[in-house]
Amino acid sequence: PLTVEVDDLVVRHPGAARPALDGVSLRLTPGRRVAIVGPSGAGKSTLLAALMRLAEPESGNIRVNGADLRDLSGDDVRTLMTGLTQDPYIFRTTLRDNLRLAGPEADDERLGAAVREARLGPWVERTGWDAELGEDGRTVSGGQLQRLALARALLYDPPVLLLDEPAEALDEETADRLMADLLDVIRDRTTVLVTHRLKGLESVDEVVVLDEGRVVQRGRHDELVAVP
Ligand code: ADP
Ligand code: ADP
Repeated sequence: PLTVEVDDLVVRHPGAARPALDGVSLRLTPGRRVAIVGPSGAGKSTLLAALMRLAEPESGNIRVNGADLRDLSGDDVRTLMTGLTQDPYIFRTTLRDNLRLAGPEADDERLGAAVREARLGPWVERTGWDAELGEDGRTVSGGQLQRLALARALLYDPPVLLLDEPAEALDEETADRLMADLLDVIRDRTTVLVTHRLKGLESVDEVVVLDEGRVVQRGRHDELVAVP
């Protein structure tokens, strides 16, 4: 079980006039799902980057079970926190092959069938995704591409799942469905979900609203949204 504490974090990108994150605190306990919302430029991606140690804090810190994130090995950071980036990609082969080519099974250690089933089963079942596995990567829709990207992330089974705009660039109906499926499947998983969609976030434990690098609101969805 992993606890991640982000404490008064300030991150400034090289050459930037103002910090991208300006005193952000966040607490992730096992099973807690936090959604980060806010306008473009608010600092959402920077927060995920800081959690993956891809952005250096100017001050404040990130602690993983009490240890400073800066003191962990690169491998440990990658194993602890991984997920979905904004750049889903696909090879020119079937979705099934795509899962083998880019995912934990592409690494040295092959996953056993039981492990694979345990990690992927709920997602496949919830989305009805197995029917699409034989389809060619060249003809898939945006929704299929995102389902593939999420399948990859779930196969890694990270203690903390980081998701950057999983429903980006999808039409309204596909986005709604993807988010509903996702929030259901990750219901017991420690997650940081960056999104600009408030819809469907009723079930997450905390919604954090960022603006210009600062937390301007935080709470449950029903505490923040005036007209649900
Ligand atoms: P989003 O709002 O979806 O996070 P952005 O357009 O802000 O997307 O950022 C896309 C990518 O470009 C990110 O990797 C971000 O770090 C980078 N980026 C954003 N703003 C700048 C900037 N002013 N200079 C250099 N890179 C930037
Ligand atoms: P969001 O994900 O909420 O859109 P970002 O974290 O991408 O916000 O960006 C926060 C701020 O930091 C923005 O002002 C953006 O232009 C700036 N920024 C992001 N990445 C970089 C970068 N690599 N270099 C310089 N500025 C950046």
